[in-house]
Amino acid sequence: MPNNSKDYYKILGVDKNASQDEIKSAYRKLAKQYHPDLHPNDEECAKRFKEVNEAYEVLGDSNKRANYDEYGSANPQDFFGGGFSNFGGGNFSGFDDIFDIFSNFGGGSRRRTSRVTPGEDIVLNVNLSFKEAVFGCEKIFKVNLTSKCEKCDGTGAKDGREFSTCPDCHGTGEVTVTQSTIFGRMTSTAPCKTCNATGKIIRTKCDSCGGKGTKREFKEIKVNIPAGINDGQVITMRGKGNASTKSGPSGDLIINVSVAPHPLLVRDGIDLLLDLPIPFTTAYLGGDVEIPLADGKYTLTIPPLTQPNTVFKLKNKGVKALQRDNYGDLLVTVRVEMPKDASKKEKELMQNLASNSSNYKRVKAFQDKMSKL
Ligand SMILES: [Zn+2]
Ligand SMILES: [Zn+2]
Repeated sequence: MPNNSKDYYKILGVDKNASQDEIKSAYRKLAKQYHPDLHPNDEECAKRFKEVNEAYEVLGDSNKRANYDEYGSANPQDFFGGGFSNFGGGNFSGFDDIFDIFSNFGGGSRRRTSRVTPGEDIVLNVNLSFKEAVFGCEKIFKVNLTSKCEKCDGTGAKDGREFSTCPDCHGTGEVTVTQSTIFGRMTSTAPCKTCNATGKIIRTKCDSCGGKGTKREFKEIKVNIPAGINDGQVITMRGKGNASTKSGPSGDLIINVSVAPHPLLVRDGIDLLLDLPIPFTTAYLGGDVEIPLADGKYTLTIPPLTQPNTVFKLKNKGVKALQRDNYGDLLVTVRVEMPKDASKKEKELMQNLASNSSNYKRVKAFQDKMSKL
């Protein structure tokens, strides 16, 4: 005998050796007998119905039944997801053949969720200049959107007060529907059509929105584009989209950001990259070169004898990190350019420079290795 306070066999009125078919048949009979919709406000019936379902959830499944027979530990809480109120919500094994009929029963969360219809999202595209993206900016969008009527606070009733309780559903927002089934007359609940599941009937309509509770209008929406936004990023403003026409939450305002490229600077996250071509004479002798910043210009001093591809890092001259206070760097890579042409005089001057190879570290290392081949 299982060490369990509830005897599921007794609840279903079957023998311990009953076949699965006998259990199913007993369950169907009792489920029909105690279904709460047939006995409104009868707590005893509701309790019995719950017990019957608990028992069948275990005994109707041969694995759970075997476990119960052996250990008596088939805790119904585990199978009912923590409470009877969730019954009818979905994937219950063993209920497949009666599920359709009971599907509206008890239905807490599912139906309530479907009654809440959020407003639609508004999707906008914005093209920013490079500078606007780096430093942030303010943009004003003209949007044709559904917004909550402020005069009636979205209720649709005059002054937000002129409504009464729906006579069909008595304010609950749902009505009882009776169907003929193989079990006889069965009842279930459905959203009330009279009041659109709001439970309220407007007595006098709001003269501003005509009773809808929402208005379609052109509105200017000011958006602060944050500094550091990048091409392809999306700004989502929760609840700033269309108001719901069915008393749900508002939709979102979604802004797709495109950023125009800079003619010289390239963004790499919060860093800026610059390829800086300099004449080989500047690399050799050093000199000042004007370079672009995200905002304005900067004079970079190239030291004498700068090697090709040297990277100069200008700390914090990059882009501000989104929603943070740190900045990236500007990384300037020097590209040494040789002249395309040289005069006879220039060539003569170069002859003198070319004579001393000991100053070329890498060239010398190469030559050393070559000589040992
Ligand atoms: Zn109603
Ligand atoms: Zn209104």
